[in-house]
Amino acid sequence: MSFNDITNQETAKSVLKSAIRENKIHHSYLFFGPEGSGKKSTALEFAKVLNCLDRKDYEPCDNCSSCKKIMKNLHPDTMWISASGARQVIGIDVIREVEHFTQLKSFEAKYKIVLLERPEKLTKEAGNCFLKTLEEPPSNVVIILLSAFPNKILPTIASRCQKIKFLALKPSEGIAMTKKQFDLEENKASVLYFVCSGKTRCIQLWLDTDLWNLRDEIFDVFMNAFSKEKQDYDAPLKLAGIMMETVSNFANEVKKEKQNGIDEFGENLSSSQIKNIKALKQAETEELKKELVKTMFSIIKSFYTDVFSMNCGTGFIINEDKKILLKKKAKDFSHSYLNNAIKEIENSNILLDSGANLQLLFQVMCINLFCGER
Ligand SMILES: [Zn+2]
Repeated sequence: MSFNDITNQETAKSVLKSAIRENKIHHSYLFFGPEGSGKKSTALEFAKVLNCLDRKDYEPCDNCSSCKKIMKNLHPDTMWISASGARQVIGIDVIREVEHFTQLKSFEAKYKIVLLERPEKLTKEAGNCFLKTLEEPPSNVVIILLSAFPNKILPTIASRCQKIKFLALKPSEGIAMTKKQFDLEENKASVLYFVCSGKTRCIQLWLDTDLWNLRDEIFDVFMNAFSKEKQDYDAPLKLAGIMMETVSNFANEVKKEKQNGIDEFGENLSSSQIKNIKALKQAETEELKKELVKTMFSIIKSFYTDVFSMNCGTGFIINEDKKILLKKKAKDFSHSYLNNAIKEIENSNILLDSGANLQLLFQVMCINLFCGER
């Protein structure tokens, strides 16, 4: 991955590249533009190139220890913050952590980097506290805010950042970027782009967790459960079980990976620094877990939207590789059932954001999906 792989954002890339070339790095940036336009990928490349130990022509090498740690989100001098979901906010406790992080001496990198997604979700109190960090950041700190809703950001915050605009991508451009960025075949890039609405984190999670198998399993459960010949009464609990197992395995894997990362660079750190990093990584693991659940919901939703499209004959389907299989099912569902199923999944997303128990959430959603009048 390099700046070159980011499609259709020439102005944004040229501003950042010339900042690196002229060594005039701002303390704070606001990358704004629609979801899926490449803001996060660009921020990641920028973070890598700023700290790369072997950069060439203002591109990161992707091979040095710094690049690798940033790509795996294990760099001790990089902090990622996000508020996922409609009801989440970024509170003052998080911003105090940011403040503390920026004040700490750099562990190993030239620049300490804070990446904050959805700054429009800062509470007023958190926003005011964040202003202090933005006004007087230590000289080696770079703060990058990413937002699809720049008008909702506190004006005092937005005005302190260098603004960089990202343009909306056409689906064909988004698919091309996904293909290039993650080295995928066209059909896989297309499924990922649409299921994840072009969001880098979702695509990365899918690939890290190999959700292709999970998608096959989910589609198998649906195909069997809705078969006219035999009704699979165990289907709701089976699907809920698959989802729960995926989340548990994922959480264990991430925990292990983060612990290995801490062990790798931890010997030079004090115990309180390690404690801070552990707390930070724990919060990130929880965020990732939630994102994984959202991705699973999106896979299930794609089943229903595809069946809906087939019923309506719109021609566009997400899971193009499963077209023949889906075609067999399409006529078995009424529009009202499909509508309700899609609403059920959207509602589950809201419940997830409000902190619902996962096991219960999966079970209730699956029972409602399978037991509705078709
Ligand atoms: Zn590098």
